[in-house]
Amino acid sequence: MPVCGVLGWPVRHSRSPAMHEAGYAALGLDDWRYQLLPVPPELFAETVRGLPGAGFVGANVTIPHKAAALALADEATDAARAIGAANTLSFRPDGRIHAANTDAPGLLDALPLDPAGRTAVVLGAGGTARAAVWALVQADADVQVWNRTPERAQRLCAEIGGRAVAQPPAAADLLVHTTSVGLHGEDPFKALPLGVDAMDGYPCLVDLVYGTGPTALVSAAQAAGATVVDGLEILVRQGARSFERWTGRAAPLDVLRAAARGEPAAA
Ligand code: NAP
Repeated sequence: MPVCGVLGWPVRHSRSPAMHEAGYAALGLDDWRYQLLPVPPELFAETVRGLPGAGFVGANVTIPHKAAALALADEATDAARAIGAANTLSFRPDGRIHAANTDAPGLLDALPLDPAGRTAVVLGAGGTARAAVWALVQADADVQVWNRTPERAQRLCAEIGGRAVAQPPAAADLLVHTTSVGLHGEDPFKALPLGVDAMDGYPCLVDLVYGTGPTALVSAAQAAGATVVDGLEILVRQGARSFERWTGRAAPLDVLRAAARGEPAAA
């Protein structure tokens, strides 16, 4: 019985088990399972090393373990190394642990436009921003990065690319929100250097934050007529990339999407 799972702390609210198990069922992978793996940082490395012996073929990794996952891997993709974080571990039959980052390609998969030659503004300079900036720079977008703590944006850009800015430009083809503002209902128009009418300058918003309903940023962008990619779509796309790595099968995107949103799957 091949098993996958998601390592995090805390992780009990993760939608990944529902999403992956729905995908296995849709493809007839009846003996595959996906488990929640709540693991505190001090137990992360020894837990991961024990997973292959318990039948695990792979694991997603979320907050706060993404850097530790890369550090303990025997091999890693160039993207994971450049970003400095891994969200997907694969356990090889020879015992080696392989690390990948599917947050970056997942973001590109979710975009409704080709970012090559376009202008993009990334808000935030944390772990998620690193994956987003790396993806957009690799895709030949012109990327500006704003962060509350400017030094962190400057460091990110020095390592990965893009330009750190003290104030986001009034207009860009793409606005990518990667801060944690809005996660607990905070008002993005107070915490971020944006007014509600600023959304008029951004025809496309990607908001990595998700909760039970649309975030304030998503609602404002929709009201301004922008194309919106929400955090659940990003979750689905990174999950689909992990799914494909482990199963070798194309992920049934609509099935993963319905499960992530808690909706019944289409017949
Ligand atoms: P992180 O590394 O802790 O970074 C947090 C970022 O938020 C930093 O840029 C930080 O700025 C900024 N920030 C926090 N509070 C702020 C405030 N009050 N005002 C302005 N900026 C503030 O976190 P992360 O791992 O990058 O995650 C960020 C968000 O992405 C979270 O909401 C997470 O849930 C979401 N996420 C979603 C997905 C998905 O699949 N949809 C995947 C990964 C993450 P400073 O540097 O100034 O502190």
